[in-house]
Amino acid sequence: GLENRVKIASNRLPVSVSVNDQGQYTFSRSSGGLVTGLGGLKGADLEYTWYGWPGIEIPHHDLQQVTTKLREEHSAVPVLLDQQLAERYYDGFSSEYSSSLIRTSLKSADSTVWPLLHYQLDKVSYDEDTIAAYRKANQMFADTIARDLKEGDLVWIQDYHLMLVPELLRQRAQEMKVSIRLGFFLHTPFPGEDFFTTLPSKNEILDGILGSDVIGFHTDEYRRHFLDACSEVLGLRLFDDKLKVKDREVKVQTLPVGIEPSDFHKRLDKDEVQEMIRSTKKNFSGLKILVGVDRLDYIKGIPQKLQAIDEFFQNHPDQVGRVVLVQVTIPSRANLELNQNLRTEVQELVGKVNGKYGNVNYVPVHFLYKSVSPVELTALYAAADVCFISSTRDGLNLVCYEYVACHDHDCSADTPPGVLLLSKFAGASSTLKGCLLVNPWDKTRCADAVAQAVQMEPSEAMKRMKEMRSTVDQQTSFAWAVSFLRALDQKEQEAVDSS
Ligand code: UDP
Repeated sequence: GLENRVKIASNRLPVSVSVNDQGQYTFSRSSGGLVTGLGGLKGADLEYTWYGWPGIEIPHHDLQQVTTKLREEHSAVPVLLDQQLAERYYDGFSSEYSSSLIRTSLKSADSTVWPLLHYQLDKVSYDEDTIAAYRKANQMFADTIARDLKEGDLVWIQDYHLMLVPELLRQRAQEMKVSIRLGFFLHTPFPGEDFFTTLPSKNEILDGILGSDVIGFHTDEYRRHFLDACSEVLGLRLFDDKLKVKDREVKVQTLPVGIEPSDFHKRLDKDEVQEMIRSTKKNFSGLKILVGVDRLDYIKGIPQKLQAIDEFFQNHPDQVGRVVLVQVTIPSRANLELNQNLRTEVQELVGKVNGKYGNVNYVPVHFLYKSVSPVELTALYAAADVCFISSTRDGLNLVCYEYVACHDHDCSADTPPGVLLLSKFAGASSTLKGCLLVNPWDKTRCADAVAQAVQMEPSEAMKRMKEMRSTVDQQTSFAWAVSFLRALDQKEQEAVDSS
């Protein structure tokens, strides 16, 4: 089995550490697809250790206490100081050094790799210092994991912050003469080879990822783009469905993540949620509710969504006063100037639409710039007639899975069948058959699709929703984690291959 051999690494730990004025530490579990998916593994008696940044700087004199608690109570190991940095600390180096390094590395990942992976070439700012910090932070991850490595370990590295870790760790394991299996999963898109090759560090990044034995992407398109880049940059070709990297074989898989639909079903059964659905329905009585839930990020196409809504009311004046958009916008990387500018742009567009089509009794766009609780979110999804996702690029997009999960249940007469309006540039567009596909750049057709969505016959909406539901129910994050780990486990793989 897989027991006790699994190590996961992601930029942030699934537990956030915080400290109060009295110096007392609290540990809170964060949510998210990865955390819920792997949380399921615990239920299946599959233990793992998780490596990542705990979110704050821990002063040196508290490090022992915090680290022990994280390890014993949360199976979590903070990536903080490597041996060399710790020594420098004793030499009088500031304890803030390593955290500021992680922050610079994050900045580098957010300002270089993130826009590049989402086709935003004009937003890429590349400089040698931040790339050096990215390298160093990846090295610290590899060093921290290497300290715990045991023969037969399965190490699973997550996402774009840690693309150099697989190769670094593979080399460390080789030096230590322990045989391990390394996996990497990219949660973002992988762009076309012509985009990717603009990155000055392209070779280093590809070599980094290729240190893995198994590499996973959400869609066939991302997988193909990655293979194209490997071919163009490194001259590697698929052979027997595997990449041959020197003397090793690397498997490249399409394996989209999902959600745990049962989390939403359980919440839907709560009186509190049912009550909230009723009050939302009452509040917007006589109106079709469109919902949008996005982090404030330029990849989410929020301006495009508002322009499509503007166009929709413009071209369908009979719909003015009959449709509202509730746009939940979650603050994200608010210190980035790009995001501040985006926020201004979005608020101006909201004002424009509301000014044009609203009146004293009717506000067409309800804009919330805040996080909402799981209870509020679930009720809002369930009450909404349509979910509108307009990302210009998006790895998968879990919001639309969550929306579908909330229309999985007819425990309430107030719950409409639900229609999903989804950008063809979100990974989920290749998994959720049954949605209405839109190109967020084509505002006329988007506006037509909004009209089609709000006027769809319930019987057709139900048919489409049923199809999407079966995907969301089967493609759970738990199933995803188990499939990946199985593919990573050589012994299980050999058993599959020989049967
Ligand atoms: N979400 C959240 N806070 C909120 C509302 C939603 O954290 O106030 C969650 C939402 O439920 C979903 C996630 O944020 O699980 C967004 O994931 P998605 O894949 O759609 O986009 P990402 O933000 O990862 O780009």
